[in-house]
Amino acid sequence: MDYKEAMGENLWIDHSLQLVNAKYLSDLGIEVNNIKPSLLNTLTQASQTAIHSYREMGGKPPSIDADEQLPLAPSITISTDVSLSKHGNTPFCAGNIREVIPVNGCQINCLYCLAVSQNRPQTEVQYYDNYSTWFKKQLVINSTDETGFMYYVSPKTEIMSPETVRNGVAHGIFSVFRDHVLSTEATGKRCKDTMFVVTKAGVQELLSELNGESILDIITAIPDNIQINTSLTPLGNNPSLRKAIEPGARSIEDRLKFVDALQAKNILSTGALVEPIIFPYAFDISFYQQLKQHGIKRVALDLLTTSMENLAVINQVIGWDSKKAEKQMWEAYLFTDASPKNGMRFSVGIEMQKMLYQKLNQLIKEVGIDHAATCKFVEMNTGLRFVTNEEDCGCMAHISPNPKSISIERSKF
Ligand code: SF4
Repeated sequence: MDYKEAMGENLWIDHSLQLVNAKYLSDLGIEVNNIKPSLLNTLTQASQTAIHSYREMGGKPPSIDADEQLPLAPSITISTDVSLSKHGNTPFCAGNIREVIPVNGCQINCLYCLAVSQNRPQTEVQYYDNYSTWFKKQLVINSTDETGFMYYVSPKTEIMSPETVRNGVAHGIFSVFRDHVLSTEATGKRCKDTMFVVTKAGVQELLSELNGESILDIITAIPDNIQINTSLTPLGNNPSLRKAIEPGARSIEDRLKFVDALQAKNILSTGALVEPIIFPYAFDISFYQQLKQHGIKRVALDLLTTSMENLAVINQVIGWDSKKAEKQMWEAYLFTDASPKNGMRFSVGIEMQKMLYQKLNQLIKEVGIDHAATCKFVEMNTGLRFVTNEEDCGCMAHISPNPKSISIERSKF
């Protein structure tokens, strides 16, 4: 069975997106009177927009699988006058995290992603032709800082997507950082900079070679300055559903083999981001048992927060797998106190968030994983606190190989 057969695109082939209006919802058995009319109107318009964008792509995501070569958009040049952006999604993010985003866009096309939702589905990604050289200069400029910086690779895209690996972007970024660390240490000084990676990559990307060197070979040279966190979302046991929701991503098994390969080389990779949590699928104990078996000791939990356009697609796709789960999703995101955050993001209501996070924390403890955490911003809204260290903001930055490099000066939000 080849990759396509194994993962399947059947959900998209056999179904098409519908207009989500009062009739659609009430046919699912949803009490439409419980939804604010303005919210229902927003949803119907969002589903109309989604239908249009997918229609242009033949009514389904582009035929993406991880082993297929994709076209490249013409490359662009990053201005050398700018600096790496400071990371600050919340007021609690550490002040010395800098974002490394070497491409514009992402071809993995996860349905929940806000980074690509303005231009979905995405078939082409723009590459900066001078990013590695510019990144190298930024590392030198920042190296005068006493505390050191944490370089976050890469919010808003996937550093180790099959495409960024095939095109040498990932090897370039990791090589530049390795050379920076080794050249600092060659002068007798300890390099305080760390790299913080979040990725959906599979072991295939880690072992992929460029000029005889794999990404694993590169990072094995700097185990004290890098941590890599896999990112996964529980989606039950239907591979077609995962393929429909994360079209270009590797399977969970490939991502866990990636973790195994890192741990075999003593690269810090004991953290996993369990996100975004699509709650009807979140309580599958075998998913967390699998994480535990692969050496995961800490999970960062994050419930799905996304745009109404994304929700209009995701919930229908879920419905192609389970009508019951689709109904639960609409009710959670449209009833109660659920409301848009930052104008465009929707989440489930606070009481439901509390209940779900508590239940998940309990489940994760039962499995024997040491820590579950949520972002401190979520804690502020829900009143929950799963970690005991006051400085711990809930993300993986606090299990850095060099935790002292996490500046307590908080990000300006
Ligand atoms: S891999 Fe990450 S950046 Fe890419 S589409 Fe998925 S969520 Fe977005």
